[in-house]
Amino acid sequence: MEVKRYEIPGLVNRPSWWKVRTNEIESICRNIKNGSCTAAGKTPWGFPVYQVVYNDYPDSSNEVNWMSVMSTKTPELFGNKEGSPQTVMISGGIHGAEIEGVILVLNLISLLETGVDLRGRKNDKLLELARLYRLVLFPCVNMDGRAVSPDHRLGASIEECRRAGEGFWTNDKVIRWPEMKEYFPLPLERVAHTGGYCNSEGYNIMHDGTPGNIKTAEALAILKAAEKYKVDLYLNLHSQPETPCNGFRMHSMCSFPYSIEVVKELSRRCKKVLEERGFVYEPDAVRKIPCKLDINTPVHLCSGAATATIEFAARDPENFDVIADTGYAFLETILESGKEMLFCDRKNWKTLNAQYNTQL
Ligand SMILES: [Zn+2]
Repeated sequence: MEVKRYEIPGLVNRPSWWKVRTNEIESICRNIKNGSCTAAGKTPWGFPVYQVVYNDYPDSSNEVNWMSVMSTKTPELFGNKEGSPQTVMISGGIHGAEIEGVILVLNLISLLETGVDLRGRKNDKLLELARLYRLVLFPCVNMDGRAVSPDHRLGASIEECRRAGEGFWTNDKVIRWPEMKEYFPLPLERVAHTGGYCNSEGYNIMHDGTPGNIKTAEALAILKAAEKYKVDLYLNLHSQPETPCNGFRMHSMCSFPYSIEVVKELSRRCKKVLEERGFVYEPDAVRKIPCKLDINTPVHLCSGAATATIEFAARDPENFDVIADTGYAFLETILESGKEMLFCDRKNWKTLNAQYNTQL
């Protein structure tokens, strides 16, 4: 099978540490020693969906699912024993061209494996924080999309970013929102280049969350891990070329009110830290709760996890270091916050949700 990568002409060459091609991701994952690395699924083109777990511990909870136990007086029976590390799940590359999250997860893996990131730089603060959690990492979910995407979109025109990221039809027009979401999967006979958005069968994994009808092995891997590891916080990493801003996207309306508050608070803290470090954040840390669904919703519903999509700026950062360091600013802030707050307080679930429920 020959896969052709879409190249954006005229961009600067990536630095040697920017290991984002599928064979490079595979090589990093295969060499993991301090964590466990498994193929949690296989993409339509046969790439493994790597799942990497650090600081794992035996499951101490009852054999019960979250929906059931939530109706009892002891919803914490689903979670992990008091005092055990919180579980944070992070996925990069659900949209394969959106490379910023992939490089962040790979840098984190490098820190945990070698003590230095892919650049050879230390980040002892992040390393120390990361060791406080059980981490479930998906470095690159959509390996098919990654295989056809450029190494980066730094400095590209908005048109080229969209062509690479979202693909184009046989009439050469970019596959744009909202039309792209009128199909599931995309009608591939009308597509000249699928872009990094979908997998090679045309499925947008971000929207593959219908219970009872999951279409992709990639989405299934995420949903299974969310329940198996009783995830407390899920960070779904993306990027966008439309604005120079980095920021959080909120939960959907179909989320528990307490979890929405957790994400709002994390976003406020990230805005403060990113701006202190000179990175661009959304003007409003807390945006409107969107009236739509994506894969974060079933993750939330099967585990109780607070879930957030983080959107990095895809073409505006000055250089590759800014991308890496922006990712660190988010992660350090979020993991630091978890030292004093529970991302998913199942024990006090009912009280906290009643407290924030404006419909009562
Ligand atoms: Zn995306």
